[in-house]
Amino acid sequence: MGYNLNMAKINLKSLNEEEIKEFIKSQGLPDYRGGQILHWIYEKKAESMDQITEFSKELRKKLSSIAYISNLNLLEKQTSKDNTEKFLFKLEDDESIESILIPDEERLTLCISSQAGCAMGCRFCLTGKIGFKRNLMAHEIVDQVIYVSRVIAKRKKNNILTNIVFMGMGEPLANLAEVVEALHRLIRFMGISRKRITLSTSGIAAKIAEFYEHAPKVNLAVSLNAADDETRNKLMPINRIYPIKMLLDECRKLDMPARDKITFEYVMVDGINDKPEDAKKLVRLLKGIPSKVNIIPFNKYHGTEFKKPSDEKIFAFQKILMDGNINAFIRKSKGQDILAACGQLKAGYKTNK
Ligand code: SAH
Ligand code: SF4
Repeated sequence: MGYNLNMAKINLKSLNEEEIKEFIKSQGLPDYRGGQILHWIYEKKAESMDQITEFSKELRKKLSSIAYISNLNLLEKQTSKDNTEKFLFKLEDDESIESILIPDEERLTLCISSQAGCAMGCRFCLTGKIGFKRNLMAHEIVDQVIYVSRVIAKRKKNNILTNIVFMGMGEPLANLAEVVEALHRLIRFMGISRKRITLSTSGIAAKIAEFYEHAPKVNLAVSLNAADDETRNKLMPINRIYPIKMLLDECRKLDMPARDKITFEYVMVDGINDKPEDAKKLVRLLKGIPSKVNIIPFNKYHGTEFKKPSDEKIFAFQKILMDGNINAFIRKSKGQDILAACGQLKAGYKTNK
């Protein structure tokens, strides 16, 4: 571990590309060393300076005396009956986060966290009940991908991640700068295609355009979860600041690459937002936005007052959307038995309700 020993040293992962260049210069090393460091950290996924075997022993020793490469600390890994895996990580300051590895037919998706806890307080979400702990730094976001990639690389099959989703703990747009930097690193340094990355937001309307301007054009998902303000206010406090119309107007304005669509997530909660009338309203709301809808039947956890609607209600809801020319998918909830499904992440924290 040796974190404390390292504290005075520079964590190379905490530096962006520019800062790596400056660091290399400050050590009197030629520019190309910077590229080599990035290659070894992000592509080769070196755990320590010692593993950068392209460098001479002498250079590794010199760099180790002033810098180090941080890693996440795995506290626990659980495997669900459906083979979903939940990784509980400890950060350098003892906060914790979770990442979920979800195998599904030809896909292997990693769901990562952008914050420890979450400040948004959505009523149906267990992470929301923890409250906000802190923002993750770019390298702590990317390190979830690095750590899990190392673990699966040793496996015979399903050993490469095909998709990354920012749908774990936290609200990514409330941690915009670090999330944007993390996206750049995933795409530029690790070679992951923008098309294989999805970021989900609870709908901080004021940040959507800014995100789109600065971040690579990854897929955007918006957690709409209701088709009128009265219902959305009850479920998501953020709606009182950015009501549905304001949120959808921001979505409409985006200059999206041809054929890209915004995914609207809709957590279906029994008796709250599951009526045929809600589906009809949703069809009207999404007119003119290149969109698809992911219906997520509510995932339960201990102490919640909410329930999942019956399958009939869920299928009927989907049919109304499809009849309205909206592609609607019902998301399978994987990893429920180990609290690894959407909205069930709490990373060992106590919840306040
Ligand atoms: N903070 C972001 C991303 C993480 S939440 C956001 O809210 O979009 C990922 C998804 O899980 C969101 O669409 C959210 O609405 C959904 N979700 C939260 N709690 C849930 C629950 N108990 N059951 C099903 N989905 C849930
Ligand atoms: Fe935060 Fe998303 Fe959960 Fe809402 S649904 S509390 S924004 S993690």
